Amino acid sequence: MQGASSGNGSEPLVRVDDLTVRFPAGRAGFWGQEKLFLHAVEGVSFEIERGETLGLVGESGCGKSTTARAILRRVPLTSGRIRFAGQDITEVEGETLRQLRKGMQLVFQDPYASLNPRLRVLEIIAEPLLVHGEIKKLREAEDRVAELLELVGLPPEYMFRYPHAFSGGQRQRINIARALSLEPDFVVADEPVSALDVSIRAQVVNLLQDIQERLGITYLFIGHDLSVVRHISHRIAVMYAGKIVEVGTRDEIYENPKHPYTQALLSAVPIPDPRIEATRKRISISGAFPDLLRPPGGCRFHTRCPIAVERCSDEEPPLESKNGAHRAACWLT
Ligand code: SF4
Repeated sequence: MQGASSGNGSEPLVRVDDLTVRFPAGRAGFWGQEKLFLHAVEGVSFEIERGETLGLVGESGCGKSTTARAILRRVPLTSGRIRFAGQDITEVEGETLRQLRKGMQLVFQDPYASLNPRLRVLEIIAEPLLVHGEIKKLREAEDRVAELLELVGLPPEYMFRYPHAFSGGQRQRINIARALSLEPDFVVADEPVSALDVSIRAQVVNLLQDIQERLGITYLFIGHDLSVVRHISHRIAVMYAGKIVEVGTRDEIYENPKHPYTQALLSAVPIPDPRIEATRKRISISGAFPDLLRPPGGCRFHTRCPIAVERCSDEEPPLESKNGAHRAACWLT
């Protein structure tokens, strides 16, 4: 089991204990006797305090989105527990789950694919209110939709337009307004700016921060652009091949990374000062991302780690404290 607590002792809004998600992936062997599973998330634990942003970073396929969807109860858990606002929600179903989902929303990555082109902005943002019975008729939602559009920096009259009239950044603002329509306590932002032009990413990230300050929302912010994740997160968890390999405050992770994988990720982030950029040491990772149908034993990073020793392929390092609440899973650091 891996632990990634903020360590401040207060009741967290979200608590994930020993989460494992495996997806059936067919059979192997001459007679098909071996059942295969994709080991998407393995033994992950963390907490997110109220009003906090936890950044979750790692390569594509490392389990970030699956972890988030498991918390939202959108994919089945193989094992582990999820607590939300003090309640164990691991097994809730039916109407209880439907009510729970009002408090936990998702902002999708692709602002183009996630808005129905045949619906006006009013219908898009009001849809969760209708689905959850908060309103009976669309007309009743107009004031609320106007408020939400203002909250995300768009004029209220935009509610009568269709998605094709908007830029990517404006569409993502509409997505955020929809996610906020039910006044959630917790929002998962799954790479919310990755599909946007670099020039408008900062605007959307700043908007998410402003909303957090005004409404006290808790975020799980998933990303692979480390400068964006640094900007918005209070703490950061780094995932590799289905496991959390390092977690700590933003400054600890960026200024004093302990895990070789985190060090390699950070060494690839461009530095604006050309003199520092020209002289700094890059840590390259060779080899392919591991096959999660048959994940490597020991430390999952050992097949690509530039400093691996024999022990790394035999024994899995625990996620342990390297400096207070700053934890990493490595035998050598
Ligand atoms: Fe590298 Fe070994 Fe540390 Fe894993 S435990 S990150 S393989 S040194």
